[in-house]
Amino acid sequence: MNQPSLERLQPQYVRHFEPYTPSKPDAELKRLYGCEHLHRLNNNENPLGPPLLAQAVIRDFAPPRAALYPSGDAYDLRRKLAARFGKQPDQFLVGNGANEVIAFVIKAFCEPGDNILTADRTFAVYEWVATFSGIEPRLIPLRDLAFDAEAMAAAIDARTKVVCVCNPNNPTGTYWRSDRLRWLLERIDGRCILVVDEAYCEFVEADDFPDGMRLIDQYPNLVVFRTFSKMYGLAGLRIGYLAGQPEVVHAIRRTCIVYSVNTLAQAAAEAALDDDDHLERTRALVRESRVFLTAELRALGLPFVAGEGNFVMLRLPMGDTLAYRRLMQQGFMIRAMTGFRFPDWIRVSLAGLEVMEGFVGALRTLVR
Ligand SMILES: *Cc1c(COP(=O)(O)O)cnc(C)c1O
Repeated sequence: MNQPSLERLQPQYVRHFEPYTPSKPDAELKRLYGCEHLHRLNNNENPLGPPLLAQAVIRDFAPPRAALYPSGDAYDLRRKLAARFGKQPDQFLVGNGANEVIAFVIKAFCEPGDNILTADRTFAVYEWVATFSGIEPRLIPLRDLAFDAEAMAAAIDARTKVVCVCNPNNPTGTYWRSDRLRWLLERIDGRCILVVDEAYCEFVEADDFPDGMRLIDQYPNLVVFRTFSKMYGLAGLRIGYLAGQPEVVHAIRRTCIVYSVNTLAQAAAEAALDDDDHLERTRALVRESRVFLTAELRALGLPFVAGEGNFVMLRLPMGDTLAYRRLMQQGFMIRAMTGFRFPDWIRVSLAGLEVMEGFVGALRTLVR
């Protein structure tokens, strides 16, 4: 039996793509770094967990249902989303996390030779999916830590199919107000699809933040991403969705993987949408945590960027990989930001006060 000729079989753009390395399980990491507790502050998860209504659904899930395929198009959840946002069910597509809907959109519109536009320092999945699909990602530098609308408009050419804007941006927390978003939507007109990734919109406190869901009615080229992983605390169940006008959603549906969203995730997400109390409690926790952490960082003289969202970026007087190791030894996992093209910066998720106090204590030992 011959070895398959992997070199020949695999497209060059796949062969040259470096696979993502996920973190190891807690038990393994605790042993590796010699810490007793591990606080994961690297993925912007909700420290309060899922809303109580979703927790009840998860607890009451009837095990025999696991033998049956889920609804292939998240039928009930889409009806619920439609009622919630004043739209039609066919304006939504649900995926295995927002990560999967990113792939749906890129595959629905791009072929090799095409390009997508996004920023150089933002959520990397848009760039990654494009790269390993043979699509060129054009990375427009951030300007004052925010997406640069003018530079993006200028970079669009005849092969640009999708423009991805993260609003608010992970990791800088900057956001576009409605006028800037409308300006780019109008400049783009019918030439390409504008994706606005609103993974953190439920955390935003600024009252001039634009609601992409409402703009959809006016702009047929707008697609909005949302996720249940952050505010709704369902990251482990993997569920997110996109919304747009029926025509654009219908076009994307062609590349949508059916049955990729499991029954429990669909049911938990439906329940989560009803729990407004959870949103308020989470916002209060994040607000308090941000006030505490930024005051401590100021006192320590560490540069930081704290915008919208449940995370803060900060710079340490050492490489981010070394900082990662030394924080791990004290039981705190953060996001080292070389991968986001912010070398020497780290991103930390905002958790409860007690955890943040511990984190600041660990930071002190690093900068002393
Ligand atoms: C976390 C995140 C997502 C993806 O979340 P899923 O867990 O795949 O739903 C998408 N966009 C941004 C900006 C994120 O931070």
